[in-house]
Amino acid sequence: MSDSGNRPGHIRLTSHPGAGAPVRFPVTWGAVDPAIRGPVVGTVTRPGDRNTIGSHGGSYSLYRALAVSSGALNPIQRPDLTNTAPVVDFGPHPQWADAKAIVSLDPFGHRVAADFADLLAEGVDIRPTIAVTRARLTVVELQQAIRDQRLKVDGDIVREHGDISVIKAAVDPVWYLPGIAERFGVSEERLRRTLFEQTGGMYPELVTRPDLSLFLPPIGGQTLYIFGDPAAIADPRRRLTCRVHDECNGSDVFGSDICTCRPYLVHGIEECVKEAQAGGAGLVVYNRKEGRALGEVTKFLVYNARKRQEGGDTAAKYFERTECVAGVQDARFQQLMPDVLHWLGITRIDRFVSMSDMKYDAITGSGIEIGERVPIPADLIPIDAMVEMEAKKAAGYFTPEAPPRAEDLRATRGRPIEEY
Ligand SMILES: [Zn+2]
Repeated sequence: MSDSGNRPGHIRLTSHPGAGAPVRFPVTWGAVDPAIRGPVVGTVTRPGDRNTIGSHGGSYSLYRALAVSSGALNPIQRPDLTNTAPVVDFGPHPQWADAKAIVSLDPFGHRVAADFADLLAEGVDIRPTIAVTRARLTVVELQQAIRDQRLKVDGDIVREHGDISVIKAAVDPVWYLPGIAERFGVSEERLRRTLFEQTGGMYPELVTRPDLSLFLPPIGGQTLYIFGDPAAIADPRRRLTCRVHDECNGSDVFGSDICTCRPYLVHGIEECVKEAQAGGAGLVVYNRKEGRALGEVTKFLVYNARKRQEGGDTAAKYFERTECVAGVQDARFQQLMPDVLHWLGITRIDRFVSMSDMKYDAITGSGIEIGERVPIPADLIPIDAMVEMEAKKAAGYFTPEAPPRAEDLRATRGRPIEEY
């Protein structure tokens, strides 16, 4: 057996295929038959089986490495997949057969145990990159919405004490490099080289193994929250309300009032629940892209730069301050975001709970129709968050009213740093 664990003293810097030796598990991206498409094999214990660059678990692969290095985890430990199957089966949808529609996740990622049972039984280390489970949500704002009679208890979607029944899916990224390059309008060679260089040479196979087309990037993935009948999501005859939300720990979890993230997220959940209760479905996509994918350290530096600048924190200088610190205004690059919608088989979103023009353009540009755009209700916007809201409206955010004028932007001012 080759899975004999780490071999001390033997460091494999990069794997080269033997002369003319093909990859053991070739991948035909976009093939709708899993046997032809092939499994995603990111094992670190059987190098000969690998057909991807990187390893499973995104950034958590580094915690796994710490667990192995400290002796807490046996490196050849394999997941026991008994009873881990999805609670509902998604797909296959026609989009799965389009190699260009989905390039940043594995559409078969939740079906590994079923589709590749024979290979798993042979000892091939194939891991799910998607998991689908059920949950009940207790959200204080929604319990208040029931007391305020905006939401009603139906015993099915909204349970007796105001808890909400959902299906949720966690999705780890799997990048098909030729498709990613095409989305960003760069050559695959340039993309691979830049990924290699900008990670400090972390993944040499990006440049030494052009025959490997898949990459498991060390970044966060996505979580989907589904309200109502999941079969309604891909059925254009039934209504779908959807919010695509980018992570904001400060507001989402801690209730910080400098932005509208949590109020808009909770409003999105409320709208999704209402759609589900009316016989359609609701979907919240939560993307791990903290601080516009620039991270929280950058975000907090920007907050200080905004609050301390001459003239105070104004909507007029909002984007400028981010750019000063980070070099860009935004690194979320919504080009990859619609992939998960295509994975779900979505062709139309009836109510899109987002004001972001970047998200709207990415989704409609990928061929999904959007009906109504739902802005955040004005009474949910914290006063300190008006700086961000007005700046974004001026920059192209969807708003049913006229966008703010230059003098409005100069007049919209946030709390000074001394007053927290
Ligand atoms: Zn926020």
